[in-house]
Amino acid sequence: MTQRTYFNSDQLSMHTQVLNCTPADDGQFHVVLAATLFHPQGGGQPSDVGTINGVAVSRVVQQDELLIHVTQAAITPGEVDITVLAEPRQLHARLHSAGHLLANVIEPLGWRAVKGHHWPGEARVVFERTAAAQELDADTVQAAVNALIHCDAPRKIDMGSDKRMLGFGALPMTACGGTHVASAGQIKQVVLLKMKEKKGQLSVQYDVAA
Ligand SMILES: [Zn+2]
Repeated sequence: MTQRTYFNSDQLSMHTQVLNCTPADDGQFHVVLAATLFHPQGGGQPSDVGTINGVAVSRVVQQDELLIHVTQAAITPGEVDITVLAEPRQLHARLHSAGHLLANVIEPLGWRAVKGHHWPGEARVVFERTAAAQELDADTVQAAVNALIHCDAPRKIDMGSDKRMLGFGALPMTACGGTHVASAGQIKQVVLLKMKEKKGQLSVQYDVAA
C-alpha cells in the first residue's frame, strides 16, 4: 500500500523509498513507492507525470491499493527523490477544481452532478435532472462560476471521516480524491463550451483560460 502524500500536500518534490521495481511485458518498469506525490489516473483526472531519481514517470495507474509508477528504466529499491512536473499538475488541478465550482453553481438549480471528466481538451461535468430542475442559461452559469473564482475562496480538505471531503470556502463539500488548486482564484477563468441534454442527462463542457 502506497501512502498518498498528495492527499494533504501540494509539494512537488520529496524523498521516499522504492519498495519494488518489476519489468513489465512492454519493456517498461512498474515501480511501487512507500509514499507518493503522484496522482494516479482515475477519478476523472489524468495521471501526474514527472521523475523518480531523474528517470521519467510516464503515468501512474492504480491497482487495488497499489499505485504503479510506470518508468522507462529500472530503479533500484531504496532511497529516492521524486518530482512531479508542475505544469500538467496545475492544469489538471485547475480543470478539476473548476468542475467542483460548476457543480456548486448548478446543483442548487435542481441538477445533481453525477460524473466528472477533467481531462485537458475534453473537460465536462454531467448532471441529472431532479424534480426541481430549472432551465439553465450558459452565460449566467459561466458568470456565476467566474464570480466564485474572483472571490478566491481557499480550498478546504477534511480527512476526518472515512472519506476525503473537498470544497472551496463556504461552498458545499464533496467526497473527492483528486488534486485541486489551493484557492479558487488559481483557476483564473472558466469558459463554458457547450451544454447538451440527452435522456435527462446534461453534459456541461468547459475549459479554463488565463
Ligand atoms: Zn475534486
